[in-house]
Amino acid sequence: MELVTVENKTTKTPGRELVKAVAVIPGKANTIHLREVPKPAVSDVPNGRGVLVKILRVGVDGTDKEINAAEYGAAPEGDDYLIVGHESFGIVEEVGANVTEFKPGDYVSLTVRRPGSSLYDAIGTYDMTTDGTYFERGINLRHGFLTEYIVDEPEYIIRVPENMKEVGVLMEPMSVAQKAIEQAYRIQQRLRVWQPRRAAVMGSGTLGLLATLVLRLRGLDVTTFGNTMPPTLNSSLIEELGARYISTKQTSLTDASAKHGPFDLILEGTGYSPLVFEAMNVLAKNGVLAMVSVTGGSRQLEIPADKINLGFVLGNKVAFGSVNANREYFEAGVKDLSTAELQYPGWLTKLLTHEVKGLENYQEMIRQLTETKGAIKVYCTVAAFAGAHTATAANYL
Ligand code: BGC
Ligand code: ZN
Repeated sequence: MELVTVENKTTKTPGRELVKAVAVIPGKANTIHLREVPKPAVSDVPNGRGVLVKILRVGVDGTDKEINAAEYGAAPEGDDYLIVGHESFGIVEEVGANVTEFKPGDYVSLTVRRPGSSLYDAIGTYDMTTDGTYFERGINLRHGFLTEYIVDEPEYIIRVPENMKEVGVLMEPMSVAQKAIEQAYRIQQRLRVWQPRRAAVMGSGTLGLLATLVLRLRGLDVTTFGNTMPPTLNSSLIEELGARYISTKQTSLTDASAKHGPFDLILEGTGYSPLVFEAMNVLAKNGVLAMVSVTGGSRQLEIPADKINLGFVLGNKVAFGSVNANREYFEAGVKDLSTAELQYPGWLTKLLTHEVKGLENYQEMIRQLTETKGAIKVYCTVAAFAGAHTATAANYL
């Protein structure tokens, strides 16, 4: 294990204790490493509004994979490294004098984006920024959560009920699903009376599974697509929700739509952009398509442009993009996670397939993330916590 030690910049943080963090050198591939950084303090936030959080668990996803491959991500100004990790779960350890929202011992998760300067940022909807630059903890220009302690303002911290601590690490991906679906419903208020019955979710990883859950909780008939042949853990989790799993290896979206559609709502989150156009083609009249795949490549495609356009015009259809999430969607996420735990007991825990214990096992974490077939959520347990269920990975190895 390689340990890169940074200087404890005395001007910024005189005599600070050092803590471990997992970081990359953005722009250089495969530079993930463990380093020591100054421990943050509540006083880093002005006006007594700091909240010091001890990180318990951090989930990783395709974005982290891309950041380590140097395809995405940027370091904060003044640093040449970026602490990664944007799916957080932790416990409040200390609060500033003017914090009324939290107390030590509260379980929490944090939002990812931090505001820029547009009107949307000013009203707390930084996920809707129109600025050229966006700030995301663990992704772009702000350090993330794969470290022992972080500090932030109450505005970006969401309380997770103690009895949800086992699945609190799912809060961030849940917020992304919540935003896309809630936005779709709000857009559909244009119809005055929208009664969606059938939905399709493209992608059956963590996001696809959580989107399937959210749509099932809203009472829709859901068909979820993946590219592996059933039965898999993913397909059985989908069926446990009363939804239908279809492998695109066997049946195309177009054929499945003829049988189980037309789909009033389609959420595309596979990361394979050509599917967006196939989805546009099969979307129901008055339907809505939510696009959530962050596709950093430069893929080109030939599409039936006239046909898609005609269908959109004559069918009054909508397609929109959705990225990130603000605290509103984290709060909605807590509610749905709680309802899910009551309605489908134990279901959420089954998503936590691969646990990596300790920040120092970051290589193992990246390996699980990039190589393990059948992994749903890979996460790092940064610190053990009371009552935590362990050895989830062993159940599926
Ligand atoms: C994160 C989002 C983020 C997006 C784009 C995703 O992996 O979950 O919070 O906005 O990447 O950077
Ligand atoms: Zn993510």
